[in-house]
Amino acid sequence: MEQAPSQCILCNSSERSVLIRQGDWTIYKCTACGLGFLDPRPDNGDLSCLYKNSYFDSQYDEGLLVNSPEMKRRISQEDHRVKFFRRFKKTGKVVDLGCGRGYFLHACQLKGYRTEGIDISSDVAQYVTKELNIPVRVGPIDEIDFEKNSIDIITMWHSLEHTVEPDRYIVKVKEWLKDDGILVVDVPNYEGKMLKKCGINGMAGICPITCIILHQVHWKQSCQNTDSKSRRGRIIILST
Ligand SMILES: [Zn+2]
Repeated sequence: MEQAPSQCILCNSSERSVLIRQGDWTIYKCTACGLGFLDPRPDNGDLSCLYKNSYFDSQYDEGLLVNSPEMKRRISQEDHRVKFFRRFKKTGKVVDLGCGRGYFLHACQLKGYRTEGIDISSDVAQYVTKELNIPVRVGPIDEIDFEKNSIDIITMWHSLEHTVEPDRYIVKVKEWLKDDGILVVDVPNYEGKMLKKCGINGMAGICPITCIILHQVHWKQSCQNTDSKSRRGRIIILST
C-alpha cells in the first residue's frame, strides 16, 4: 500500500473530505475540484494480488461456452458499446485495456473489427486467446507496448480507475493510436447512474480496489489537459 499524493492530481489542492468508507478502504473527495480518490491506495504489486484473489471471483464468470445462450446474452449486452464508437469508426483494429473475459472484444469481432486485449490476469487471457481466438497481452500498462501510430480504436471500459497514474497512461496509450484514431474512456462517476442504482455503499462494494472515482466534469478537464500534450488521435470520455 502507498499513500496517495498529498496534493490532488488534478488541481493540486490538499483539502479533502471522506466520500466513501467501506471496510479497509476510504475514498476521499478533493473539496476544491471534486475528484474522488483512494488513500492509501494499492501499488502495482498489491493490485496484482487483489485482482488475483478476489476481484475476478466476484466480477467475472469462469468463461462461458462459445455460442452458448448465456454467451449470446452477454455479447448482446456489449452491443451498445460497439454502437457507441461505430459511428466514428466502422472498421479497423480495436484494443481493449482491461479486457476481462473478452465479451466486448468478441462483440467487436462479430462486427468485423480486428481485436486485441490487454489484461493483468493471465487466467482470463488464456480463456480469451484459446476460446475466443483473440490475442491478449498480459501485464500492467507499464509493461505493455504497441507500435506507435498502429491502432484505430482503444477502449478503456471502467479500467482506467484501477490504475495508479491515470494521466500518464492516457498519454502512453494515445501514442499507439493512428492520427485519426480514437480513445474511448469510461470511468465511474460518483454522481452518475451507478450511484443512483447501487447507492454509495453499493458502489464501494463494486469497486473496493478502485484507485480513483472520477467526477465527470473534472475528468473531462483532465483529459483535455492531457490531450493538449499529445496531438495524436482523439479522446471520447464517458462517465457513468
Ligand atoms: Zn482537486
